Amino acid sequence: MLSDDCLFCKIIEGKIPSTKVYEDDKMLVFKDIEPKAKVHLLAVAKDHFKLLADMNDEQAELVKYMLTKIPAIAAANGCEKGFRLVINQGEDAGQSVFHLHIHILGGETLGW
Ligand code: 5GP
Ligand code: ZN
Repeated sequence: MLSDDCLFCKIIEGKIPSTKVYEDDKMLVFKDIEPKAKVHLLAVAKDHFKLLADMNDEQAELVKYMLTKIPAIAAANGCEKGFRLVINQGEDAGQSVFHLHIHILGGETLGW
């Protein structure tokens, strides 16, 4: 289920524009507005939940589905030499959007 007051739910619904690179019935991948690497994509499930710790079984299946799709999506978008996935969880990690998302970083040698 999507949420009315969530930035990424609004992006999923098309209420806020984004540069989409992949979409199906379960997930959306779009470009991060403030890229931290040459390629910086965000993968979101079409279901609103904040943390891995909050997931029910269905949501865990969605994350598994995303992980199976991401390698080909990354390769098709400039990460054919590799990529890094980041999932920020909570305050100390600096999570700023509370809809679970997977950062896909690459397109260059990552220095950290
Ligand atoms: P977090 O810090 O929660 O792990 O990541 C949130 C990410 O969302 C950040 O990398 C930030 O640049 C990105 N972001 C924030 N607002 C927008 C937006 O309106 N559009 C897009 N495409 N990315 C956004
Ligand atoms: Zn949301």
